[in-house]
Parts: sequence; C-alpha cells; structure tokens
Amino acid sequence: MRKYSVFALAREAMRHHKGWEKHWTSPEPKSEYDVIIIGGGGHGMGAAYYLAKEHGITNIAVIEKGWVGGGNTGRNTTIVRSNYLYDESMDIYEHSLKMWEGLSLDLNYNVMFSPRGVMMLSHNEHDRQSFKRHVHANRLYGIDNEWLTPVQAKEYCPPLDISASARYPVNGAALQRRAGTARHDAVVWGYGRAASDRGVHIIQNCEVKGIRRGADGAVTGVETNRGFIGAKKIGVSASGHNSVVMAMADVRLPLESQPLQALVSEPLKPIFPCVVMSNSVHAYISQSDKGELVIGAGTDQYNSYSQTGGLQIITHTLDAICELFPIFRRVKMMRQWGGITDNTPDRSPIQSVTPVPNLFVNCGWGTGGFKATPGSAHLFAHLIAKGEPHKLAAGLTLERYNTGRLIDEAAAAAVAH
Ligand SMILES: Cc1cc2nc3c(=O)[nH]c(=O)nc-3n(C[C@H](O)[C@H](O)[C@H](O)COP(=O)(O)OP(=O)(O)OC[C@H]3O[C@@H](n4cnc5c(N)ncnc54)[C@H](O)[C@@H]3O)c2cc1C
Repeated sequence: MRKYSVFALAREAMRHHKGWEKHWTSPEPKSEYDVIIIGGGGHGMGAAYYLAKEHGITNIAVIEKGWVGGGNTGRNTTIVRSNYLYDESMDIYEHSLKMWEGLSLDLNYNVMFSPRGVMMLSHNEHDRQSFKRHVHANRLYGIDNEWLTPVQAKEYCPPLDISASARYPVNGAALQRRAGTARHDAVVWGYGRAASDRGVHIIQNCEVKGIRRGADGAVTGVETNRGFIGAKKIGVSASGHNSVVMAMADVRLPLESQPLQALVSEPLKPIFPCVVMSNSVHAYISQSDKGELVIGAGTDQYNSYSQTGGLQIITHTLDAICELFPIFRRVKMMRQWGGITDNTPDRSPIQSVTPVPNLFVNCGWGTGGFKATPGSAHLFAHLIAKGEPHKLAAGLTLERYNTGRLIDEAAAAAVAH
C-alpha cells in the first residue's frame, strides 16, 4: 500500500485526489484461516494487525457483522487515560497510553491522538479521598497524576464554574496531563489499512451465527450468513455482544450488556481546552476538532441491546453540564446515540483462554475500552498466538472469578470511561 506523506498529499492535490487507494480490500472468504477474529472494532482489528506484524500469522480473517468501526469504537467519547487505581489496570492502560503516543507513526495513519489532559473533578470528601488515593497510587507506579486546587482547576479549564454556591461545588481535581483524546474512526481505519496491507482479510456484512467444534471440543470454525468458514483458532472481541457470541460455544461469561449514551452539540469556536470528567454527577465533556462539544453520560440502569438509551439519563447529564459550565446553557445539542457496553461485576476487562480449546476472549471493556485499544489489541494478539496471557494481562483472565481476586475498579471509580 502506498505510504501517506506530505509528498503523497502534494501529488494527489495536483491530480484532484483521484489516485488514493481504498483503505482495504474486500476479498471473498477463504474456506479456512489460521485465525478468525470475530468483531471488526478497534480491538479486533488491532489484534489482527499485531498477529501479522509481531507473530508472523497472516492467514487471518476479521469477521464483522456490520461495518468496520460501526460498534462502540465509532460511538465512544474518545477519552484516553491511564490513571486507574489497581496495578493490573495501570499495567494495561499505561501500556496502551504509551502505544497511543507512537501509533500514528507505527500505522502511517493519523489517529489524531491529542494529549490535552484529562481532569477529574472532585465534589465532596469521598471524591477527594478517592482521587488523592489514585494520585498517590499512580505516582508510586510511575504514572503522572496530580492534585489541583479549585483555582488551579479553573486555570486549566476556564469555562469551569468553581463558585461555592454551585449545585455541585468543586473542591479539587485530579489531572493527568498526558491523557487526552484520539479520533475513534481513524484508529480502526488505520489498523484495518495496515492489517489488510499485511494480508489480513476484512470481511464485512458477515454475521457469526454459530461456533462449530470438533469431536475433541476444540473450535473448527464459524457459521455465518455467508456460509461456514473454518478456523484453527478463534478470538472473540464483539463488545456488547460478547456474551451472545460466546454462548454459541456454550461459554457463559460474567457480563451484563447495557446501553451507554453520548451526544454532541452544534460546533463552536475552540473554547474547551481539555477533557473534564465528573464521576459524582456522571458527566464528561471535551471539544472535538470539528468544534462540537462531546458529552457522555452514565450507563442506563437496565440490560438491553437497543442502541438508543433512556432520555432521562442524558437529561440528567445535561443538567450537570449546565451547572458545571453555565456558559454552555444556550448551546444546542445536535445528535445523540448509544452503544452496547459489556460490563463485568468488577468493571475490569477479561482477556483469557476459555474452557473451549483454541477459543480466546477479549471482553468486559464496558464503558472504558477505547483508551485501551492499542494495548488490548497488542496483548490479545499475544494471547492468541502463544495460547497464554502476556505478563501485563496475566491478572485479567477469567480465573479471577473463581478465586474471587477481583480488580474492583467499580468501587474505585464509580464510572470508568
Ligand atoms: C457512548 C459511549 C461512550 C464511550 N466513551 C468511552 C471513552 O470516552 N473512553 C473509553 O476508553 N471508552 C469509551 N467507551 C467504551 C469503548 O467504546 C469500548 O470499550 C471500545 O470501543 C470497545 O471496542 P471493541 O473493538 O472491543 O468493540 P466494538 O467497536 O463494539 O467492536 C465489536 C464489533 O463486533 C461486531 N459483532 C458483534 N456481534 C457479532 C457477530 N455475531 N458477528 C460478527 N461481528 C459481530 C460488532 O458489530 C462490532 O463492530 C464508550 C462507549 C460508548 C458506547
């Protein structure tokens, strides 16, 4: 595939941009692959790329029931950070954050990673103690995180209201300066382009409807709406539908699928310099490069596969945003949508071998897996290639639900976007 560069841009400008190639090819499925990845989101596509790049396995198909990036990868609010509390979480999210920093160069594709800082607001004594605990834990682990006074928080984000009479008064904030946002579509398109370039087949509009197993119980392939496709190994990375897909192989996972909503405003001139999250009031906000305010809410409180969500959830979120940032009270909202998140009881992800030989799962990223995309994909590729977890993901296996040694980020953070 032709390399993207300033020279390529100049050349194409001279010929009215008619020479750009398609990002990836769309081949007919082969009868068998060494590896099939179910789910063409960032995690699945990235895993295919690292299998090809780092493990020399190129006879791979990524099977996607809709279009590449049409799941949660294309629906999220793009927050990237690594300031989690527990060692297992810090390991994988920091691995990922470091990969974000060089991802555009690695893929030769601008993923628009923007380390503009993520500031988490504290509104009460519980928040203050909890966030300070995060700050100390992160710094001891070598991850940047710092505590700000309300005045320092306002200096970092001038639209923030820190008056004492506010409905949700701000009594401090935790700031991770290396954190920020990236362009969600670009990540999966970049991985898709680079994976296709290494021979990976990307098969869209192909829904997996069954997982076939041999006499020894090991996987032999998948039943799809385009027929049977054989596979020596299968990696499942289908986010909100992980439990549905894994049930096809009789594997029950500790997951609940719930809608999570987001919305964007009309475009504004640049006004919001960073990402601000408020876990207590369940609202978070940043400004996209197009100028839209990107706003996210908490999950709906029921299990569902509907990509819409309840109106009361976003109404509550907008109440909170208007209280925290009164200058946005007259801004109009333009679009709203939902995605289906797969949530574990401890709100930490699972990357694991399963009771079915040669079937691997990457799930439970729930409301916060976009930030993990490069790291998760990288470690999932290792798991599939080697049949055992990478040391950075060793604590994330299904085994923790047998031993009870949970990684309780839910209790630590309330929301985990
Ligand atoms: C509104 C919202 C806001 C969010 N905000 C953030 C955030 O700010 N920061 C953050 O870190 N995370 C955030 N997340 C979470 C994040 O989006 C996800 O954790 C992450 O994108 C998951 O990526 P993925 O590749 O695993 O899944 P997906 O991108 O969902 O890909 C899975 C794919 O599997 C496909 N699939 C499902 N079933 C089948 C089948 N039977 N056959 C074939 N294909 C199938 C789907 O069509 C889908 O394309 C948010 C999520 C939502 C919904």
